[in-house]
Formats: sequence, C-alpha cells, structure tokens
Amino acid sequence: MITRFAPSPTGPLHLGHAYAALTVWKVAQNLRGTALLRIEDTDSTRVRPAYEAGIYEDLKWLGLEWPTPARRQSAHYGEYDAVLERLAADGLIYPCGCTRRNIVDAGARPGADGMVYPGTCRHRAMSDANAGDGIRLNIRKALDRVSGKLSYIEIRSGQPQTIEINDKTLLDDIGDPILKRKDTGDPAYHLACVHDDAVQGITHVVRGADLRDLTPIHVLIQRLLGYATPIYDHHRLITDDSGKRLAKISKAKAISKFRAEGLSSADIKNMIGFKD
Ligand code: GLU
Repeated sequence: MITRFAPSPTGPLHLGHAYAALTVWKVAQNLRGTALLRIEDTDSTRVRPAYEAGIYEDLKWLGLEWPTPARRQSAHYGEYDAVLERLAADGLIYPCGCTRRNIVDAGARPGADGMVYPGTCRHRAMSDANAGDGIRLNIRKALDRVSGKLSYIEIRSGQPQTIEINDKTLLDDIGDPILKRKDTGDPAYHLACVHDDAVQGITHVVRGADLRDLTPIHVLIQRLLGYATPIYDHHRLITDDSGKRLAKISKAKAISKFRAEGLSSADIKNMIGFKD
C-alpha cells in the first residue's frame, strides 16, 4: 500500500494542509503502508523555493516522515511531454490558445474544473500548434477510445464503494481539460498528477473532498495510458468559523505562525479535530 501527500509550494501550509497530511500518514499507518511526499511544483509563475522549504519543515514538525528525496514534478517535465506525445499519436489532444476572456465570451458555463471549455479550438490539429498554445484533451474522443464503462473504487464512510462514471459528467460538467498550460508550457495538474501516481505506484489516493469531482478525469486519463486506477479516499475539508474553506482564504494562518507562537503539534491536532 502506497499513498502520498502532494502539496503545491505556492504558499505556506495552513491547517487544511495539516489535516490532509496527518490523514494521509494515518491511513498509511492503519494499512501498514508507506506515505510519500510529492512536491507539485508545476505552476512556474507561483512556486517559491521558500514555500517548498516550509513544507519540509512543517511536516517534520508535525512528526511526519517520508522516504527521501521527495519527487519534485519540476524535475520530470520530459516525462509529461512524452505522455503528451502518446496522446497526440492517438489524436486525443489539440492545441488551444484561448484566454479566460475568450472562454467566457464564448458563453462557457462554470463546471467542476473551472469553466467548461466551449470547444473553440477542438477542430485544430497538433501539427498546427502555435508557440504559446496550451494543449487540451478531447474528452469525446477519449471516451470513444476507452471501451466499456469507467468506474473506480472510493472509500465512503469507511467502506469501499464502486463509483460508476457517467459520460455526461465528463462531457458536460468538466469538459476538455488543459493538459499543458499556454504561455508557460507547464504541465497541468491532471496530467502530472495521474502520471506521477502511476510511476510512484500509488495504490491509495487520500486527498481533500474538493478534488472528488475531478476524479473521473483522472480515471479516464489512467485508462487512456494503461495505468492502474488507485483506490480513492476523499477526506473532509477544514473550514474557518464562518464555514469558508481554508484553501479559499489567502490569509489562512500559516502552520509556521502557530509554531512561532509556541503551539505544539498536539495543539494543532486539537484545533482541527484530528484523532491519531
Ligand atoms: N497539489 C494538489 C493540491 O495541493 C493536490 C493534488 C492531489 O492530491 O491529487 O491541491
């Protein structure tokens, strides 16, 4: 059993991250498995070395250990490009130069993964890509490519359940996702995450409930690439007093601030209702 905690070093870790990390290590311990740390540092406009250093410090302070070195996605861009080449050879991806503004102006609706892409560039071929274009996955073609129903196993209320994926969910609620970002050329989360889960042999993905609605896209990409689908376990999210998710609050108090104020890791566990 192998699981992972996969933070993005785009800000300091807060209590929501502490809950996620502690949960990942607890599941690994309960199942006598291994918890890995993975640094998802693919948003080159927002990652900072100091945030990555903070991740190592905060996790150690929480009493968590992992096999070192942690995998850092920025060191594997060549692998993500190779995956894109496989998808391109199958005609499943297309170049897209649309800005957010273009997408909104084309009448896009909000979906589970931001705006549902209205398909403006879907007719374009990879051979016509321009410098600075992003790359999207053509969901319709991808679904046609994988035969049979898509499903995965999720732990709900402690019990494994089979979740069937409805094509409509992928087509209408998510839409063609970005796999490579325009301008920066960074691999997008779905691509890097799915590839890394496979190469790291992740058997259990333990992560926040905010990512539950995106799991269908991960399962689809796994099937396209011939990767095994892990078991998913989405944990509750930590909110502030008004019920707002901490991840949505830019000023969510950093774990390092609590530490500087003299709190212990046991105090943190109390604050977030985490039981060992
Ligand atoms: N890097 C993602 C985040 O910080 C986590 C992705 C995952 O666990 O699948 O939200």
